[in-house]
Amino acid sequence: MEKVVSGIRPTGNLHLGNYFGAVKSFVAMQDQYQCLFFIADWHSLTTHPKPENIQASARTILAEYLACGIDPTKAPIYIQSDVKETLELYLYFNMNIYLGELERVTTFKEKARQQPDNVNAGLLTYPTLMAADVLQHRAHKVPVGKDQEQNMEMMRKCARRFNNIYGVEFFPEPQNFYFGEKALKVPGLDGSGKMGKSTGNCIYLRDDDKTITKKVMKAVTDSGPTEPNSPKPEVIENLFTFLRIASTPDTYQYFDEQWNNCTLRYGDLKKQIAHDLVEIVAPIRAKIEEYSANTELLDKIAREGAEVARASASETLKAVREIIGFRK
Ligand code: ADP
Repeated sequence: MEKVVSGIRPTGNLHLGNYFGAVKSFVAMQDQYQCLFFIADWHSLTTHPKPENIQASARTILAEYLACGIDPTKAPIYIQSDVKETLELYLYFNMNIYLGELERVTTFKEKARQQPDNVNAGLLTYPTLMAADVLQHRAHKVPVGKDQEQNMEMMRKCARRFNNIYGVEFFPEPQNFYFGEKALKVPGLDGSGKMGKSTGNCIYLRDDDKTITKKVMKAVTDSGPTEPNSPKPEVIENLFTFLRIASTPDTYQYFDEQWNNCTLRYGDLKKQIAHDLVEIVAPIRAKIEEYSANTELLDKIAREGAEVARASASETLKAVREIIGFRK
């Protein structure tokens, strides 16, 4: 059975970008693939060098994963720092990837712009650590959002280069995978590119109904359609993206027709989006509260997940050492 691996950094609560871009696919994939999901606490040090309480933050994401529907009996969940094998593979990949290749990655350039006083080597080697996360399990598919496409390209480069240097067919070239549709970019509601923690434009899975509604109603729009059947400007396309991911196809069509015949009222559109998002988020929020209160269960799930992940990674690393020429 094909393997699936993906993770998210515990730098804040999960937002709708994480949910629709990644976690919803995690849940859909767990019945059909051999899945492992993790919480990327080492990766979070690239932007948050002195985390307040990294263990609590990891538990937060774990509770949110469970609330979204990941079932650890089907898809074990582990914390990245519990599997030290990752670091060894990270080191080998760093030996095979060139500085120029890492410097060209857009997410690196973006982060370097966002934190000019902390352009650390971890930020530069973010993709090789991500490659180690996935390839230590020799996974084939990685459910991530559209923003991760370049990191995925670097991951395939790590796999290819290792195979070429040592003349083996050992690592698969993992594919970015989005269950049911093509990779998704969840937009921000402030008219800016994507919903993201660093841009402060997120709707969180922990937001209450009122907060969600308020955020949606404040979404940036324009003065309205003037010509029938005209293309939608980006801010309006963004609202329709929400409609596409949160509402039914009929609802989408209804508002799309209103746009096309210039009768669309943005207030109505936003009310519909807020209503449909609340329907999705409210039950998840209730479960987050339930799981968050049960730290014993969370720790047990993470412990068991780490055992599975370590077993899988150590098997890979044994083979890798032998391929390079080290003692197994
Ligand atoms: P990290 O820094 O760990 O990548 P992010 O919150 O940026 O944390 O992303 C975690 C996951 O959520 C990734 O798979 C990413 O592709 C997805 N994701 C985040 N924001 C969005 C978004 N706006 N649209 C689609 N996917 C997203």
